[in-house]
Amino acid sequence: MATASSIPVKVKYPFLPEAREEYRSRGFTLKDFDDPSLKPIVDRAVERVINAIKFGENLDPWKISEDDFTEIASFPLAVVLVAKVGDNFLKKRFALTEVSMIQKRLMNEREEDRVKLILEIAKNFFKMDVEYGELPPPYTFTIGLVDYLKLASKFNDPAWKLVNRIVVKGRVYVEDRELIRLIRDKLEEHVIKNIEEAEKEVTVLPKTLEEAVRIIKNNLPERKIEEESIQMVSRPEAWPPCIKTIYAKLVSGESVSHFANFMMASFLLNTGVSIEDIVSIYSQRSDFNVRIARYQVEHIAGMRGSRTKYITPSCSKIRTNGLCIENGRLCGNVKNPMTYYKRRLREVIKSDKDKDEFPGKRREASS
Ligand code: SF4
Repeated sequence: MATASSIPVKVKYPFLPEAREEYRSRGFTLKDFDDPSLKPIVDRAVERVINAIKFGENLDPWKISEDDFTEIASFPLAVVLVAKVGDNFLKKRFALTEVSMIQKRLMNEREEDRVKLILEIAKNFFKMDVEYGELPPPYTFTIGLVDYLKLASKFNDPAWKLVNRIVVKGRVYVEDRELIRLIRDKLEEHVIKNIEEAEKEVTVLPKTLEEAVRIIKNNLPERKIEEESIQMVSRPEAWPPCIKTIYAKLVSGESVSHFANFMMASFLLNTGVSIEDIVSIYSQRSDFNVRIARYQVEHIAGMRGSRTKYITPSCSKIRTNGLCIENGRLCGNVKNPMTYYKRRLREVIKSDKDKDEFPGKRREASS
């Protein structure tokens, strides 16, 4: 099996300029991939994408092609294939898989190589304000306060909060594994940006690549949000703004904080949505795992663990977690999203009845 030091840098980190340069130097166009001699690259690109669908973050980062150039070229080609499949879930799943492999590879590098690579990626590639220095263990790097806050503010774990960090002269001390975690988010954005650029730039695919796209589509999991059944039991038009906002993020595949997930699931359960339908909302996430998602929702529903059915968190708790919209201005002083929902639901039901009873009147009024 391959190890970190036995594989060239441009193979392990195919987003780096030296890998891109190697690919460009051969002057391939997409049309060239119809040539049977390039089939191993197409096959490896398809395998890359299907492995992302199947294994996500659990993919072994050392299972790669024997041939260096095949591995290098399969990355930009896989980006094009993902773009042409045109599925939001796949876009995020592919980015998540690629960056989690990069994270594991970096952690496996020999210490001196790791430091060099981290500096190359963070400083040179992403222009982050990062310095390596003689620091008290376990710290190895410092990062400028502005960059630190930009990147670490997304994490809920108290260990990332500035009050729990050592800050000296405007620089935050970080361990190399922490800096790699911060770089990972930048990388994920970078891969998604590459896919979005390919979506705009690539219009027509040669036959071989069209076939590759078809194979990938056939491997996509069946995911369908049961909008209709949600509407039957819970009326989205009566949801409060905070819940609507999280829902929109979830169905577009964006990841949200642990608290937001909890708040959403407990709200939906309390408005009568089934566990299956809630799990299907989470299926849009790139790191979706049906077993874990079902377990968590069942736990909130009181079917597991302490057997307590959780109530929806209060507005003040939601506010503390930064998820209240416009500081509650739109909600009329409610203390809990459920109160908002019940109030709005009465109005929605009344308006439904009015429509049923006086359909003609409304038309007259509006004509
Ligand atoms: S006031 Fe309450 S219900 Fe309204 S957006 Fe804020 S947290 Fe949500």
